[in-house]
Amino acid sequence: MKKITLILSIVMIIPLFWSCATRQEKMEKRLTSFIKDYEARIIPLYKNSALTSWNANITGTDADLQLSEKASFKLEKEYTDVKAFNELKAIRDSKAVADPVLSRELELVYNMYLGGQVDTALISERLKMETEINKKYLNFRASINGKEASDNQVEGILKTSLSGKDLKTAWEAHKQIGPVVAGDIVKLVKQRNLIAQKLGFNNYHEMSLKLSGQDPAEVTAIFDELDNLTRDAFAGLKKDIDNFYAKRYNIKPEELQPWHYQNRYFQEAPEIYTVDFDKYYKSQDPAKLAAAYYDGLGLNVDAILANSDLYEKPGKNQHAFSTDIDREGDVRTLDNITPSSQWMGTILHELGHGVYSYYNDRSLPFTLRTEAHTFTTESIAEMFGRFATDPAWMQSMNIIDEKEAATIADNAHKALRLQMLVFSRWAQVMYRFEKEMYSNPDQDLNQVWWNLVEKYQMLRKPEGRNMPDWATKIHVALYPCYYHNYLLGEVLASQLYSYIVTNVTKNPAFTGDKAVGIYLKEKVFMPGSRYYWNDMIEKATGEKLTAKYYAKQFVN
Ligand SMILES: [Zn+2]
Repeated sequence: MKKITLILSIVMIIPLFWSCATRQEKMEKRLTSFIKDYEARIIPLYKNSALTSWNANITGTDADLQLSEKASFKLEKEYTDVKAFNELKAIRDSKAVADPVLSRELELVYNMYLGGQVDTALISERLKMETEINKKYLNFRASINGKEASDNQVEGILKTSLSGKDLKTAWEAHKQIGPVVAGDIVKLVKQRNLIAQKLGFNNYHEMSLKLSGQDPAEVTAIFDELDNLTRDAFAGLKKDIDNFYAKRYNIKPEELQPWHYQNRYFQEAPEIYTVDFDKYYKSQDPAKLAAAYYDGLGLNVDAILANSDLYEKPGKNQHAFSTDIDREGDVRTLDNITPSSQWMGTILHELGHGVYSYYNDRSLPFTLRTEAHTFTTESIAEMFGRFATDPAWMQSMNIIDEKEAATIADNAHKALRLQMLVFSRWAQVMYRFEKEMYSNPDQDLNQVWWNLVEKYQMLRKPEGRNMPDWATKIHVALYPCYYHNYLLGEVLASQLYSYIVTNVTKNPAFTGDKAVGIYLKEKVFMPGSRYYWNDMIEKATGEKLTAKYYAKQFVN
């Protein structure tokens, strides 16, 4: 009896396996062929888009800007292809793709096409709304005592004035943009939500995160963890900050108002602990220092610098960025380097992005030859960028001697710590506000904003204030659902740094230690987007992303 059952079940199982294998083979073949066609179309469009954008940023001419706009439009248009999307969807729905590299590619390419599957009428309506709102921001000038003032002028007053009356006037003047755009933003938020709902998401916030490969619950959990770990330390520092300002303005700490914090949103820390870093860089060449430093880690950047544009030019973009033109080694950075600590930090930062791209694994397919997530490349850039004001690093690069390093070490660390904690609390407000706004745009957003500001930044809402102050931050309207990545980048930077100085090198500045380069290449750069970002982090550090190390570095 037993024997018969066994034979029967074997007979029944074998064809089942056989049909599974062929189904899997069939679907993987279908996907492989899709990807072959996809790469043939996308790679030239991608390169052209990257290259024309680079040129436009260098020259700033209308002709180059138009070329760039056209190229990026063509690239984006590929992802609106319904036939291609349906083919991908059929393959994905079959759940038959088992090969790990193929199924990862499927997931990433599917998300890109899914984002493109929206009625073009809805998209163009959204773009129109965004353009209109952008115009309002661009044309807005705060009015101070009947005189127009730019954002820089407002920031200037907030930073330097000692008069409570002038500070209040400047702060309130800047907030005048709120009521001008708030209604439009709520309409735009609803339009974005409509687009997201058509694609099967609850709202635009959820869609943005999910399509970029982030699970909102996972991100919120990290923000909660970070809040728990930083709250007490921040409350303590906030007392120091308040005492500092109370003295500065000659008032009582409990009389401090949001306009007393030297910038529009309290997103930067006050300069309580001052070190004049610029004086050390006056006679230095930041590009040369950075090149020597990365070379010492075994991450030579000569090929990147040879293709880059490092110094100021008329018409050129005044900021800095890094770009991977072809995912085959043409990596570039645009900068406007001057001998200053700011540009030392920036070039270290940009070359951090650069080495991440440059040292990818060329045997991976095109789609996977990129960072695990935007915030993971941000974390590498931030980890290296922090060194510019790190006395241990400066000493290791012979910028200062041991005695000077010891003199400034305490203040340098305290200043960085303050900056990190202030920024982390501000990013909490941004992340949680956007999440709330998209989940219910009809609620009392003015109140939601101030509740968050009071809770996370521990600022006091001016008595009786009921204005759309949330709408004064342009990112809320025009760079939606992205801000949290800056903070995730900082959190991962600390986790990687802590892992490296515990397991890879004894040198706190890494200087000259090739083991660090080998580690980063093998564990972070070469895997590209082969793994879900949190799996990559776990493989690289033994733990999923956690705020523990950020807290260790900046709280204790
Ligand atoms: Zn960056």
